[in-house]
Parts: sequence; structure tokens; C-alpha cells
Amino acid sequence: MLGMSGSTPATTPTPDQPTERSAALLEQARAVTPGGVNSPVRAFRAVGGTPRFIRSATGPWLTDVDGNRYVDLVCSWGPMILGHTHPDVLAAVTDAAGRGFSFGTPSENEVALAGEIVARTPVEQVRLVSSGTEATMSALRLARGATGRSKVVKFAGCYHGHVDALLASAGSGVATFALPDSAGVPESSASETIVLPYNDLAALEAAFAEHGEQIACVITEACPGNMGVVPPVPGFEEGLRRVTREHGALLISDEVMTGFRCSPSGWFGAEASASIEADLFTFGKVMGGGFPAAAFGGSAELMSRLAPDGPVYQAGTLSGNPVATAAGLATLRGCTPEVYAHLDSVARTIADAASRELTTAGVPHTVQWAGSMFSVFFRDQPVRTYDDAKSQDTGAFSRFFTAMLQQGVHLPPSAFEAWFVSAAHDEAAVEQVLAALPAAARAAGNLSGSDGTL
Ligand SMILES: *Cc1c(COP(=O)(O)O)cnc(C)c1O
Repeated sequence: MLGMSGSTPATTPTPDQPTERSAALLEQARAVTPGGVNSPVRAFRAVGGTPRFIRSATGPWLTDVDGNRYVDLVCSWGPMILGHTHPDVLAAVTDAAGRGFSFGTPSENEVALAGEIVARTPVEQVRLVSSGTEATMSALRLARGATGRSKVVKFAGCYHGHVDALLASAGSGVATFALPDSAGVPESSASETIVLPYNDLAALEAAFAEHGEQIACVITEACPGNMGVVPPVPGFEEGLRRVTREHGALLISDEVMTGFRCSPSGWFGAEASASIEADLFTFGKVMGGGFPAAAFGGSAELMSRLAPDGPVYQAGTLSGNPVATAAGLATLRGCTPEVYAHLDSVARTIADAASRELTTAGVPHTVQWAGSMFSVFFRDQPVRTYDDAKSQDTGAFSRFFTAMLQQGVHLPPSAFEAWFVSAAHDEAAVEQVLAALPAAARAAGNLSGSDGTL
């Protein structure tokens, strides 16, 4: 499909990549599914062009229905930390599926997966669910049930799934479409949510001074990754812990994206993290290994408020599914120190090269990190808040994205997302990324208006 010789990078992206089958599938999909996709960012509305329908994936590679091959820097938004169809995970899944798909009873893998999570993180107990959205929704209910209070505090740009109370100012998907909020969220629900600027302790203290007795919890992404990667400034995490404790509110650390990726435990335990012990943690993505599995957890005392031991109801037909838990368990067990070292080194190589080429092309940008998770903002100042993130040149990102895609590198199709690498990203995959960067950086520099318009 592409003449990818590393020595002489193409001056312009190759426009000859066939997309007929993806385009035809999108057409069919549009007839039966809103926008043709089952999660909005997949529609490529922010970057333009035809979303690629992927037929198969192995290691760091995606192959689409037209036969094009891409280095995958989405990794299913994080879960594919070992690479696609990793042999150990495939064997575990095949074995589990051969013994039954779902029982509606307790089963052995659930115990092992919960044990693995408890061993790696500060939580004493977890309840397994099927999506990150369910995890944060349930954690919120538990916090409200345990405190007898109703208000929740979230930060602008943090995404916690599409829970009604948490959809205000929620980063990536919502940011991509420039929707301030979602339609269909009742005012009664939104009015219980206080949205504050991220990294702003003074705003947190002011909110607690006014509403402290009604606030059940503060929920935050452990290290935000859904407005691009925006690490907490020094002291912010400690401040969250102190202020919530002073006012008897719970602190929920959402590690759905960062958990088991930034370090063997998550952002908690990562080098740059203050490793604050929140009251509740939520997990997802990596812990499902590409299958629907997520969790929330905390101290045994707090978790005992959940049914059947306590009064806070929470349940799920497929919770702890034997195939999903087998995939998650095999994935976590495969996440060795060597894997984390590899992720770090591959991520540094790619990010450094991207930065170098963008500098050469004169494109303002900033790279920000959370362990091996990083994002490239198309603005030259550090990004500390959602407003900062929104001020980047999204037009430059779109041109960059399209040029990378046409050279066989699939980035997240939004300027507000982290880039993900896997243990399977080998020299060949990294080479293909490096070879694509110069032309993509030049494309980003072309026609670059400061307001992102062409
Ligand atoms: C992805 C994500 C969620 C939602 O998880 P789903 O499985 O998509 O429902 C929640 N919180 C964070 C931080 C996430 O990155």
C-alpha cells in the first residue's frame, strides 16, 4: 500500500490508500446505527475522512477491510497493553470460552482477578462490573450512600464515562463535538454536580466552604488523560485528600485509563504521582484485556455498604464474566516490569521524534506525560486545565492525523486524547511511525491558522 522507505520520507502523504470497503461499510452502518458508529469519536468527525473498519489485529498492527495495515497508537484506548491477540491472553480466553460463556453464578476467575487487583493497588476489596461507566456510576452511588449526601464535585476536562451526573465538561468525546453538556441529562441531576477547573485548589476550597456539608465526594481522573494528558500540579493531589477529609467527603480516584498502565498499579505508584490513597478507586480498560471488565474498590469497611452486605444496591448480569475475567487476568499477569520498561522506551522514542519533527516544521506543540501515556498538544504552552487544552490548534492536529493515517499510522482521531503504545510495538512498528512523522509534521505546519481554521 505504501512505499515506506525510511531513508527518503515522502514529501507529501501518499493519497493512494484504498478506502472503498471502509466507506461502503460506513454507508451501511449509517443506515442502522446513529452516525454509523457505536462510540462517537470513532466517526472521525473531528479529523475528517473515512473511519477505517478494522478486520483483524495482531501485535502492534491493525489491518482494515481494504487491506491497509497500520501501526496502532490507539490500542483500543488503552486495554491492548500487551498488543493485539497476545498468545497468552488468546489461550486463556479460548480455554475459558471452551468451558462456558456466562454462568450467572460465582466462578473462579473472578476471585483471581479481584485478588490480582487488590495485590497491585491500595484497595482491599473490589466489585467487578462490565464498563468504566458502570464503575464510576457505582462508586458515586456508594459515596452518596455512605455519606448520606448528594452533591458531587468533578473537574472540567475529566471524563468518567457517560454517567448523567458526570457528563458536564467531560473532555475528549464531548470536547471533540464542542458540546458543553449532553442533551437528556435532567437539570435535577446536573444541579447536584459542581464542576471546577482542574489543578485549582483555591476553587476546590471555595466550593467546599460554600457546600461542604452537602458534598458526598470529589471524583477526579487519577491523572487526566481524556483532555489529553494533564498531570496534577505539585500539591494538587495532597490538597484533594486534605480538603475532602476536612469536610467528611470521599475522594474517588478514577484509574480507568491509568490503572495498570502508568505503573504496575496505575497513576498510584507511578514515579510522578503523589500516590494519594483515595477512598475509592475505579478501574477498567487494561484490567479487561480488551473484553468488557471494570471494577471499583476501596476499604473493606466502605465496600461492606454494598449489597448483599449493606444497603447500597449494585448488580450486573455479566459482571465477573468468566471469559472477560480470564482475559483480564492473563493481561495483568503479562504486565511484568520488562513490559513497563518497554512501554516507557517506545513511548519516549515516538514522542521525542514527534516533537523533533514538529519543531523542524515550525509547529507549536507541547508533549505531556503520565508514565508511558503521553499526548501531543498543538500549542506551545503547558496545559494545566481544560481551557488550556481547548486553546490548541485542532486544525493542525487534523492535518497531522490524516497524514499519519495515510502513511500507515493510526493515531487517536482527536486532539484531546492520549497516544497509547503496547509491549508488542517492536522496531518495525516504531520505524514505520518515525518514517511517517516528517511529512505529517509538515502537513500540520501547512495552512496553520492560529485559530485552527484553514
Ligand atoms: C474510558 C474511561 C471511562 C469510561 O469507561 P468505559 O468502559 O468506556 O465506560 C471512565 N473513566 C475514565 C478515566 C476513562 O478513561
